[in-house]
Amino acid sequence: AKASGRNQFRFYNDELNQMMTRKMLIENELRLAIENNELILYYQPKVDVATRRVIGMEALLRWNNSKLGFVSPVEFIPVAEDTGLIVAIGEWVLKTAVRQNKDWQDHGLPGLCISVNVSVNQFRNSDFIKTVKETLNEIKLSPEYLELEITESIMQNIDESVELLKELRLMGVKVAIDDFGTGYSSLHILKELPIDTIKIDKTFIDDISINADRSIVKSIIDMGINLNLQVVAEGIEHEHQLQAITKYNCTYGQGYLFLKPVTANEFEHYVKSTR
Ligand code: C2E
Ligand code: CA
Ligand code: CA
Ligand code: CA
Repeated sequence: AKASGRNQFRFYNDELNQMMTRKMLIENELRLAIENNELILYYQPKVDVATRRVIGMEALLRWNNSKLGFVSPVEFIPVAEDTGLIVAIGEWVLKTAVRQNKDWQDHGLPGLCISVNVSVNQFRNSDFIKTVKETLNEIKLSPEYLELEITESIMQNIDESVELLKELRLMGVKVAIDDFGTGYSSLHILKELPIDTIKIDKTFIDDISINADRSIVKSIIDMGINLNLQVVAEGIEHEHQLQAITKYNCTYGQGYLFLKPVTANEFEHYVKSTR
């Protein structure tokens, strides 16, 4: 028993070591990712579910590193947040997305709103508002073509968040609550925060054929409509999910059923092919 206990301990220790090594490796490599041109943005359309027309797109970060290969944002974004690297990376994402959207408009694509994910630590950074303002000015993109996606975690610091959101919306920038319904304070958000859009989390859409989830989705859509918000259903993969949200009067959707996130070129082709 003693020996096996020791083995278990060693096993646990090895695993822990491996995890720490990977995290440290990610951190070290991530520090150089911008200057080594390893980051790239993919784009996923947001569509009007009735017509399947593209009405906007979400920018999603991709990282391909020489040592680690392709690393998912689900793994590296938390490391970026823990280490503060998210500020520089977030700024790169914002600039790249705004520039891409401006390029598309200059090359005859219809004016579409681009949604950019913003981490809490990036949002709270004292220079954030200034960075957004300067980026829009510098690139000359009209603010209504930019939407910032934040999560319910900004509720931890509600007074400060409300002020920041007011400033952003005064500027003309749009604000979306991402992964709506997964936090503890979803209803509070609707009451307190000045926002434009709610994105119903994929987990509710996944299980939309289950009674409870169907009722939740239906209620979220109704609340959104009554509060004059844009409601987007995330992670639509199947026709039956699309039919369900359409029946509940949800106007916008995103998901593999329409298109997975793709490169800028592929996105441009997709938009042209659907017009
Ligand atoms: P998110 O913001 O909730 O993004 C939606 C995720 O769902 C994306 O994963 C997207 O590729 C995926 N998705 C979209 N439609 C479907 C579908 O029909 N089925 C399935 N199974 N998945 C779908 P991705 O690109 O791996 O990003 C994961 C998360 O990483 C994002 O979740 C977001 O929280 C974070 N992230 C990605 N890019 C950025 C960024 O530039 N900045 C920050 N701060 N976070 C980012
Ligand atoms: Ca998002
Ligand atoms: Ca989401
Ligand atoms: Ca998410």
